[in-house]
Amino acid sequence: MNERQRTIVALNAHPDDEALLSGGTLAGLASRGHRVVLVTATDGDAGWAPAELMESGRLGQVRLAELPRSAAALGAADVIPLLYADSGHLGEVPPDPPGRRRFVRVPVAEVAERVAEIVRRERADVLLGYDRNGGYGHRDHVHVHHIARAVAAATDVQLLEATAPRERILRVLRWVSRVRTLPNDFAIEEWTQAFSPTQEITHRIDVRAQLPAKRAAMLAHASQADGSFPRTLGFILGLPRPLYRLAFGTEHFLDPTCSPRSGRERRHRDMLDGVQGTDG
Ligand SMILES: [Zn+2]
Repeated sequence: MNERQRTIVALNAHPDDEALLSGGTLAGLASRGHRVVLVTATDGDAGWAPAELMESGRLGQVRLAELPRSAAALGAADVIPLLYADSGHLGEVPPDPPGRRRFVRVPVAEVAERVAEIVRRERADVLLGYDRNGGYGHRDHVHVHHIARAVAAATDVQLLEATAPRERILRVLRWVSRVRTLPNDFAIEEWTQAFSPTQEITHRIDVRAQLPAKRAAMLAHASQADGSFPRTLGFILGLPRPLYRLAFGTEHFLDPTCSPRSGRERRHRDMLDGVQGTDG
């Protein structure tokens, strides 16, 4: 069966986000010959890393250098960093570094114009953003949500939002917390409003076949993958394989133009199902 080649633009907040929520789906699409373009808003310079790297002031540079390796692992055709500074997850937004702005200080319309230009140039069929909670709620992720919505309103691209089923995440987190020490920056209560209720999810994609690529993409973010201190990506990579498979073998997206599903409605199993002009 000949599939028409599609272009997917995935807008992410930080280097490593492309691997976490949608890496398997993107790798699967790329392996079928579709064009995957990663647009990464920030350099991740306010993320966590080993102390000496954080103190060096070079974290952003290091993380931007890791990004193309992750993109290669996923088979992405291009990576476009927008080069804003990471706004950080908690507390006050740090001061702007010289010559640049923290991402949340940049108006939605301004970033949306840049992303819309990429979407038009690429003639993208699908734009990938985040759900309205910005997944677990990082302010840069919430900003990406609003920007992707604005781009979808200004262009004819079909928007899908990466998410995860909230109820299931809470079950897994509670279970994991009984057998493992969770990272410092991890509070289960924060997750009760995170991501999306299961019934809003329109796409449920089996990515077990893409797990080696997804894991390789995660590992490419070496500054984040160090398991010697409690950090999210390192923690995830340290999970026992069967649990990793269970937690990351399925990816979820929602089409914001659909109302919440009724119980019987089938979910799409491919990101391109239901995309305009898709044959069959
Ligand atoms: Zn992020």
